[in-house]
Amino acid sequence: MAYFEIKDLVVKHKSFEGIKTVLDIEHLAIEKGETFGIVSESGQGKTVLALTIQKLLATPPGIIESGEVFLDGEDLFKKTPRQMQRTINGKKIAMIFQDPMSCLNPVFTVGYTMIDVLRENRGMSRKEAKAEAIRLLEEVKLSDAGSVMGKYPHQLSGGQRQRVIIALALCCGAEFMIADEPTRNLDVTIQASVLKLLKELQRKHAITVLFIANNLSLISAFCDRVAILHDGRIVEEGDVREIVRNPQNAYTKMLLSAVSRTHKTEETDAEKPVLLDVQGLKKYFLINDEIKHLKNLTLKAVDGVSFKLRQGEVLGIVGESGCGKSTLVNTILNLYEPTDGKVFFDGQDAFAGGKRNNAFKKNVQIVFQDPYWSLNPRWLIKDIVAEPLDVYEKLNENERVARVKELLAMVDIPEDACYKYPHEFSGGQRQRIAIARSLASNPKLVVLDEPTSSIDVFSQAQILDLIKDLRKRFNLTNILISHDLGVVHDLSDRIAVMYLGHIVEFGPAEEIFSNPQHPYTQALFDSIPDVDSFGIESLKTLEGQIPSPINPPSGCTFHTRCSKACEACAQRTPKETVIGEGHVVSCILFEKDGTEAGIAG
Ligand code: SF4
Repeated sequence: MAYFEIKDLVVKHKSFEGIKTVLDIEHLAIEKGETFGIVSESGQGKTVLALTIQKLLATPPGIIESGEVFLDGEDLFKKTPRQMQRTINGKKIAMIFQDPMSCLNPVFTVGYTMIDVLRENRGMSRKEAKAEAIRLLEEVKLSDAGSVMGKYPHQLSGGQRQRVIIALALCCGAEFMIADEPTRNLDVTIQASVLKLLKELQRKHAITVLFIANNLSLISAFCDRVAILHDGRIVEEGDVREIVRNPQNAYTKMLLSAVSRTHKTEETDAEKPVLLDVQGLKKYFLINDEIKHLKNLTLKAVDGVSFKLRQGEVLGIVGESGCGKSTLVNTILNLYEPTDGKVFFDGQDAFAGGKRNNAFKKNVQIVFQDPYWSLNPRWLIKDIVAEPLDVYEKLNENERVARVKELLAMVDIPEDACYKYPHEFSGGQRQRIAIARSLASNPKLVVLDEPTSSIDVFSQAQILDLIKDLRKRFNLTNILISHDLGVVHDLSDRIAVMYLGHIVEFGPAEEIFSNPQHPYTQALFDSIPDVDSFGIESLKTLEGQIPSPINPPSGCTFHTRCSKACEACAQRTPKETVIGEGHVVSCILFEKDGTEAGIAG
């Protein structure tokens, strides 16, 4: 018998629409020490499987109809919930959830939570538990573990929170770990370092891992074997390399093509008029926080950003969380009052008339990151989509519904959706509805703020195709914010790479992706897992955290993390150097004659 084994597992889900089979797994076996991946798009049963294994599935509405789950020879389904809680979950099976915020209690400090778990499960005294908690936080490479102990979850970055969750998973010495999309909400740079850490700990403690992902690139970097789950059934299973190189099932092929989409941007016409002209835009926030003893400090979220965007172009803005991407866009949209600088839209001053500049607002719309939050759950779809129509056009109810149906048809949502609520749709469908709403006022510029980050990789591919199609049909100009570089690559004509409120590299997308020049851009792109580079060693990491924009490093703000930094980097701010047509880099290495090699020589 294998170390972990599932036999004839059938799980059903009961809803008002009837009973549906959500999992039907004949056989799955994982050997000790192995890393086994389960991959599928959302809604195919991955998380139901993780919860079922631990007997944490809510029944009802879930129904475990049949099956056996063995861990190290023990039949988990024969255990009572109390036995599972006391002897299995946490102790023999550790779980890492995808959203660390939802599994850390916001009212307790990290130290309180960890000491509590250690005392409860390992019978330690408070003093012993405290020392062990600090040791575990150090083991997951959290610098200054002592001060992390005193912090609340909201005071930590996403990567730090995920490291705390990993430390908690290690608390009780479990030898089997279920990692449910553990890097889903993290930047690529942090994703690579969290995965490397997990692999290191897995090897050190001989942990067997069931790794759940919606992306085959992560599986190929992290796992030995993989099972492809579709409609609750395993449609293909085997060695990761074998499956990536020679997929047999049509669904596997579809998942692979979703992660290996090749980029083809349309030729942009240099003669096309400039639609958006951003000149020296700054957005500073004044910080007064009495609890943290911070008074009259200035946070420079956007610090002198300039670029031009021509009609019909897509500008992708990339950079880690906290680099100023969203603040830049919100300031351009006049949602934040700019500290300095100008924005011209179609030749007109976009800030003239302040927030009441209706002509600008009508022409510029935004699609938000999370369609679960951006659609009002109490409104019918027809009212959600018609919201901009109600502001800018006065239509009677028949005209209004007809226009909404037309907009829904553009995004391939059936017209009967008009009288449904958001919860009746999947993530991908909701994002389509949000896109339909953004098109209601016939805008010229649509800002896409992480449009695919909350949906699975397969729906992502469909949304990207839709965005491209709509862009062509309506000659739309887009600004795309994303920390998913694959998405940006797929869609953009131009790229702006941001670091601490500055654009450090700007230029044609194809050129930047094929030959990034700025050390930060290079490090960022190196962190992206490639579906056919196997093994954790293929992942490169950018160490260190993005510094605080309240007190940014002197000179080049990237010098604290840059592998090529020299003495001058800490002393003066790099100038912008043009290194190709429309390709600009801010790095001292390029200043002399426009080539890095030239400086070195
Ligand atoms: Fe690195 Fe110096 Fe260039 Fe900044 S200026 S990116 S620190 S080499």
